[in-house]
Order: sequence, then structure tokens, then C-alpha cells
Amino acid sequence: MSDYRIHGATGEWEVVIGLEVHAQVTSHAKLFSGAATAFGAEPNTQVSLVDAAMPGMLPVPNAECIRQAVRTGMALEAKVNPWSRFDRKNYFYADLPQGYQISQLYHPIVGEGEIEILLDEKDEGSARRVGVERIHLEQDAGKLMHDQHPSMSYVDLNRSGVALMEIVSKPDMRSPEEAGAYIRKLRSILRYVGSCDGNMEQGSMRADVNVSVRRPGAGFGTRTETKNVNSVRFIMAAIEYEANRQVDLLESGGTVVQETRLFDPDKGETRSLRSKEEAHDYRYFPDPDLLPVELGDDFLADCRASLPELPDAKRRRYETALGLPPYNAAVLTAEVETARWFEALLATLGDEHAVRASNWVISDLFGALNRLGKPLAESPVGPGQAAELLRLIADGTLSGTLAKQVFEIMLETGEDPGRIVEARGLRQTSDTGAIDKVIAEILAAHADKVAEYRSGKDKLFGFFVGQTMKAMAGKANPQVVNDLLRKALGRP
Ligand code: ADP
Ligand code: MG
Repeated sequence: MSDYRIHGATGEWEVVIGLEVHAQVTSHAKLFSGAATAFGAEPNTQVSLVDAAMPGMLPVPNAECIRQAVRTGMALEAKVNPWSRFDRKNYFYADLPQGYQISQLYHPIVGEGEIEILLDEKDEGSARRVGVERIHLEQDAGKLMHDQHPSMSYVDLNRSGVALMEIVSKPDMRSPEEAGAYIRKLRSILRYVGSCDGNMEQGSMRADVNVSVRRPGAGFGTRTETKNVNSVRFIMAAIEYEANRQVDLLESGGTVVQETRLFDPDKGETRSLRSKEEAHDYRYFPDPDLLPVELGDDFLADCRASLPELPDAKRRRYETALGLPPYNAAVLTAEVETARWFEALLATLGDEHAVRASNWVISDLFGALNRLGKPLAESPVGPGQAAELLRLIADGTLSGTLAKQVFEIMLETGEDPGRIVEARGLRQTSDTGAIDKVIAEILAAHADKVAEYRSGKDKLFGFFVGQTMKAMAGKANPQVVNDLLRKALGRP
């Protein structure tokens, strides 16, 4: 797919990557109980008798979680299975009161799909397709806390039973960059769909990273799986480290063992957790407490109808219908919040100004937010106000320079641009009388420079423009200033 290679001592190596992403389903209640799922609650305040696995408790599937998994599958153009089933994955651990996790091994709710990634936002030619093997639903476990007491560990069961979608990719990625682009694109789609908030710092999305290396064109090598990596940067770093480790190992005559590893973000290294030989036998079997999940045609049709316009379709529409350059279209559709903001702006300003508006959002607005260290959601300037500002530029009330001044004041005060223009007299003037008067004064004050200009020093024109704009406090219409200056100076 790509030409990423590791240059070893004995030649070139290709990297093969597959990601298993755990995405927490956006829903008020857990997968099989009515307990709440809000992030950051006091430990053990969101635990039902089902989540604590009290004897005799029975799981009841949450239709919303099933709906979200189906919608996600449809968004990935995947095959949705109208018949699926839950299995028990048995293992013992102190954060798992049931002694098993309810998951889907044999009959997942979603089958094969595909995600398109762009390696370079400016270039459609950099598009790649990464296969999705399956999506299944499963329960999350609780969390052990080892730092609360000198000699005891505590358990927080708030996460116990929360619905996760496990989204398993095919081993289709060939570089850390492709894996980074894949995870960002997947997160973007989940956020558009509204099936996962994609918040990796809060653990709502984390990835098991499978890596192997091979000689270009050879069969797949043995892979390792690095568990629970929780940022795009760490995923890419784990791949880089792990691929190089495997190459070094193979080149020095060793073999890669199939094992589970952990990524240490402080050291940027992976280390062995357990090998395949010590791997659990989970004794999967169909959960006898749950009926198979059968999806009716109406339910499936409702799921499909509820999907929003997705990032790829939106990006192409921005290019074809709005005329945006590919880079602008890619940047503005990458996150659903950005696209919503931009569309709210256009709703006031009109689609015919889309190109200008897109440039303003990407350079002026993003530049300012970057400087302020604020995300778009906390922008002091709203889309309606931005539309008003752009309109004042379009109708000649504001020059580019004045617009920048007004925008700075908007960022500081949150006031509307129209008010700022009125209250502070920042309107651009095309009053030729006033501008001519100023020009006459400046030419008189700089007779030497006028002579130089007339004898051929063209560059001085900019000096006169600058002086005039300064004397007009930046409010003169630059085009008018140019015209009047040329007239007053005469061509050299
Ligand atoms: P298992 O069931 O043992 O977890 P799977 O075949 O389901 O194995 O694969 C799990 C993940 O590992 C998938 O994301 C898949 O793409 C990836 N994978 C499989 N083989 C390789 C390989 N040789 N190199 C890298 N990744 C791989
Ligand atoms: Mg696996």
C-alpha cells in the first residue's frame, strides 16, 4: 500500500499493522443494566445489582447500544448481521465480578466493512482503504485502584457492564502514519454518527495494536499485540518501537514470539506482558441468559435513516457543490463540530461566500483559537458573528486590515462586529476628498522621496501607501488610496 520501509542491517522490511479498537458506546445506560454511564462519577455510584453480579440477576439488552453498533456498522459501509448472539468469555479477575465478560465471538453484530483514509489532506491521490473485519458488542470491566490504601486494593465498578464496540481492522496498514490516519478517521466517523465520543484521554476509545514485520512481498510474520494504547501519538510510537524491535530481533537470528505487550509512554517502549503459551483459555460458549439478537427491517431502516452526512460525503460535497479547495474541504470536515460551525456560518452568510469563509475560518479563526489555546467549542466568536464580520468585508464597510482589528476586539469582548464598527468608528472610508488631503500633506513632507520615486525608484510606492494608511488610522479604502496616490505621484 505505501512505501514505508525499515532499513535493517540485512535489507528492507515491511511493517504490517492491524488495530482492535475498543470504543465506548454513547448511551445513558449500560449494555445489560439500567445503571448510568457518566464519566467521572464517584466510585461505585453507578453500579446496579446486575453489574455487581449478585446471584440471580439477569442481563437485559439495551436496545440503544444495539442501535448504536448497527448505525456504526452502516457508517463503515459494513455488513450488518440481522442475527447475532452473545457469548460468555470466562476468566477470573478482581475487576470482573461475574467471572465472565459477555461478548460476541462467533456471531458478531457487524461483519466486514471499510474505512477510507487520506495520508495527505491536500491530495485525493493519497487515499487508502483499510478493511474492517468485524464489530462486536461487549461489556467493559471494572477498575482496580492500587493507590488508595497502603495494603489493600479497591475496586470501582462504575465501568463494569458499560457497552463497548470492538472494531477489528484487517491487517491492512503498512506504516505508523497509516495507523494514525486510520484511528483519526475512525474517531471522526464515530463522532459524526454519535455512537462514541472518541475521547481517548477519558478512555472512551483505546486500541490493541497488532504489529508484525516481513520482507516486502513475503507472507505475514508473527505478530505481537500491544494492549490498551490510548492516544494516536502513542499508537504510532508503539508501532515504530515494536517494528524496529522485531527487525533487530530477526536480524540477530532470533524469532518473534506471539505475545501480549504493554506500551510505556514515558520510555516510548513496549515490554512483554504474557506470551501465547500463558494465554487464557476463555472457554467461550453462548450466554444461556440471553436470546439471540434479531434485527427487523423497520429497525434497520430507522438506523439507516438516522445517519447524518458522513465525513467523506461531506468533504466531496464541499469540493463539488461549494467549490472549496481540497485542503479546506478536508480540514473543515475532519471533525463534526468544525463542519457544524462552518455550516452555521454559511446558513447566515450564504453558500456563494463559502470559499472566502473557509479561508477565514482556517487562517483567522483557527489561528486566533490556537493563540488563545481554546477549542472551537469555546470560541468567543460564534458562527453568526463571524458571518456578520465577513459580510462587512464583502460590502466594503471593512478593509482587510480593519476586519482584523474588529476581529481582535470581538475575541476580547465577544461583542457583535456591527456594534464594534459603530461604537469605535472603524468603518472604512472611500472619501476621496479626505484621502487626497492627506496625500497632499504626505507628498509635501517627503519631497525628497517624491523626487526619488519619479526618477525611477518604484519601490517607494509602498512607502507612500503606508504613510497614507497610517495617517488615515488604517481606515482608508486601500484601492482608493492606491488610485489616488498613482494620480498624485504620476508614473515615474
Ligand atoms: P485473534 O482472534 O487471535 O485476536 P485476529 O485474526 O482476530 O486474531 O486478529 C486480531 C488483529 O490482529 C486484527 O486487527 C488483525 O488485523 C491483526 N493481525 C492479524 N494478523 C496479523 C499480522 N500478521 N500482523 C499484524 N497484525 C495482524
Ligand atoms: Mg483479538
